[in-house]
Formats: sequence, C-alpha cells, structure tokens
Amino acid sequence: METTKILLVEDEPDLAQVLVDYLARDGFDASVEGNGAEALARIQRTPPDLLLLDLMLPGLDGLSILREVRRVSDLPVVMVTARVEEIDRLIGLELGADDYICKPYSPREVVARVKAVLRRSPRRTLVEERASALPPWIEIDAEDWQAKIKGRRLALTPKEFKLLQTLVARPGRVFSRSQLLDALYEDNLDVSERAVDSHMKNLRKKLARALPEHEIIRSIYGVGFVFERRE
Ligand code: CA
Repeated sequence: METTKILLVEDEPDLAQVLVDYLARDGFDASVEGNGAEALARIQRTPPDLLLLDLMLPGLDGLSILREVRRVSDLPVVMVTARVEEIDRLIGLELGADDYICKPYSPREVVARVKAVLRRSPRRTLVEERASALPPWIEIDAEDWQAKIKGRRLALTPKEFKLLQTLVARPGRVFSRSQLLDALYEDNLDVSERAVDSHMKNLRKKLARALPEHEIIRSIYGVGFVFERRE
C-alpha cells in the first residue's frame, strides 16, 4: 500500500479544509498551501503525487504554477477555477492540466476526479529518478549483497539485505507487509507476514546501532514500513 500525496493549493481555508477531510477519508495524504509562490517552492522541494490547483491565488497564480511545473514534470494536475468560462480558455492554452473543475464543486466530485486522473496518469519518471538517488550516508551494493552506513559495513542476513534494498529503492514509499513478503520470497504461500516482522525487527536493530541519530526505516502502525530519505 502506498499513500498518495495530494497538495491542494487553495487560499480559502474553509474550502480547503472540507476537501482535505474528504480526501483523507478516501485514504489520501492531503495537505494545503494557501500562497502560490510558497506552493511552487514546496512542489519543487517535495513533489506530491497530484496537484489540485486553484487558479486565483495570492503570491503566484495557478497558471504560472502549472507552467513552471510542466517545465520539469508530468505530475498530474487538476485545475480549479471559479468561472466556468475560464475552463474553455484554460483548455485553449494547452498548458497540460489533466482535468478542470469549476467552483462551486461538490467535494465528492473532486475526489472522484482525482481518482480518475490518478488512474489514467502514467507514473511520472523524473520525480522518481530524483527521489531514488541515495543520500550520501548509505550505500547499497546489489552485486555483493552488502550495505554500508557511513562507510561501515552492516552484517546483514540475505533477507535483511533484501528488505533494506527494497525499501531504499523507493524512498518515502510505504510498503505493506504483504508487498515485502513478495519481495523476500519467490513462493510465499507457506510464509506468514510475521516473517517480515521478524526480519524487519532484526534489520532495524542493526540500523539503529549503525546510525542511532535517526530512524532509517520507520514503522507505520497498521500499514507497513518506509525508508525515510534524509541527507
Ligand atoms: Ca482562490
């Protein structure tokens, strides 16, 4: 399971809160930014999986944000506008938004559109490539099945190595126990998800010894595990 991050760029706090609640109820990790310029900085820093973008914003308008985003990424974008006539003009501009919604909207409708856009959008490449570059303190050598933290080799079992390698390959992505089980065993019909927990427990213990300052692999209660990328 993977939490889909949605950034809602909206300067009306009440409206934003209603949408965030609806999106959260559907399992999305939604957050709000009210200022256009700050929104763009945030998108460039940590790109969401989908952008819900209001047109009229303080700081920087939605069109300028979309233009900047499209320069470097095909991140799914849903534009929101207060005027139905605006939509024709926006489509005419061919800026490459994935969908358009007119205010006032029903939050349910917005959630449905978001899901539809996510379903049909290919996984973006650029952002994932950037995310998969490892921070300097960790090294994974897939050929020799070795991992190093700050230059020191970790004594890992093959299963522990495989777990670490799987998580590290997708920083920030939450893996469920069953996904990790699939990564660990080719044929896992007879293996319980508890096996994941036991290998994970030992792996995390070794990681904590190697780098006590922070949790390299975090356990998300009831969901699974995530490798948190930190410099
Ligand atoms: Ca607005």
